Amino acid sequence: MKRDIGCWIPLKSFSERKNGGPSSIVIHYVSAKWSNPDRPYDMEEVITLLRAQKLSYHYIIGRGGNVVQCVDENDRAWHAGFGILFGKGDLNDTSIGVSFVATHDSGFNDSQISSGVKLCREIVKDYEIPLNHVVGHSHVDWKRKVDPGQNFPWIRFLNDIANG
Ligand SMILES: [Zn+2]
Repeated sequence: MKRDIGCWIPLKSFSERKNGGPSSIVIHYVSAKWSNPDRPYDMEEVITLLRAQKLSYHYIIGRGGNVVQCVDENDRAWHAGFGILFGKGDLNDTSIGVSFVATHDSGFNDSQISSGVKLCREIVKDYEIPLNHVVGHSHVDWKRKVDPGQNFPWIRFLNDIANG
């Protein structure tokens, strides 16, 4: 599925889902902080980085709240390959990846969070995803990952998804 909510910048690093539709959302942050320190939040730089690393998310949310879709929801993006949720691995196969343009310390601004809420609200409705299946990358790959980090406003985010 491609949504009306964003613009479409395709990434080639994806594959077919093996076991039907998504049943969770994994939240990340991404930036070009290391590859281009002068423009860490630049969407083009982020896309270039993901292409080089052969990684992908279904959605990336820019600093202005702009939503970019990179992978069709029917396909499996490559963002949480080692993730485990409620005892089940191969999380790429069963999740939607949503990444906010941010660094560990930058925080997330209101426009981004509002756009993320709107997007995730649509997704959880469409696939009947329970809110305890909306998780951070660090929740599902706790030994290796720290994103989305201590600045992510989980309470507001989940409440706004639920109460919208
Ligand atoms: Zn991540």
